[in-house]
Amino acid sequence: MYKHILIPIALDHEHKASDAVEIAETLKDEGGRITVLTVVEQVPPYISQYLPEGQIEKNVEDARIALKADLGGIKGVEVDVIRGYPGPAIVDYAREMDIDLIVIASHRPGLQDYFLGSTAARVVRHADCSVHVLR
Ligand code: ADP
Repeated sequence: MYKHILIPIALDHEHKASDAVEIAETLKDEGGRITVLTVVEQVPPYISQYLPEGQIEKNVEDARIALKADLGGIKGVEVDVIRGYPGPAIVDYAREMDIDLIVIASHRPGLQDYFLGSTAARVVRHADCSVHVLR
């Protein structure tokens, strides 16, 4: 059904990436791609100026390592880490990478009363492609 599926993963949530990957696999065309993406939150300049040199690059690298660990032995999935504000960054990334489906969790675990978390809501509202929300 879909040629390039994006799965945004928040590393501070306790969702397992494998659950979303399993669903993406069932929705993916033969020969299609899956990319798992984490957005490392942008730090405003009034804070970043006090960070040690190289700290932001280290955070990105640490996120890449954590994301790969979260994926465990899952094969055939591409991994990417970018910096930005998660909602807009996910929407822009999807547009630039020609993503045709985003698979995203509705909110962080334990907040079942919310219909949609802030990032998920922004993605649902602004993405150009289809969005599959996991509840
Ligand atoms: P809440 O507002 O309850 O924290 P969010 O909307 O932030 O919920 O999170 C819902 C989902 O959005 C996450 O499970 C994840 O799929 C995605 N998401 C949130 N933050 C990020 C991030 N920094 N990088 C990638 N995906 C994210």
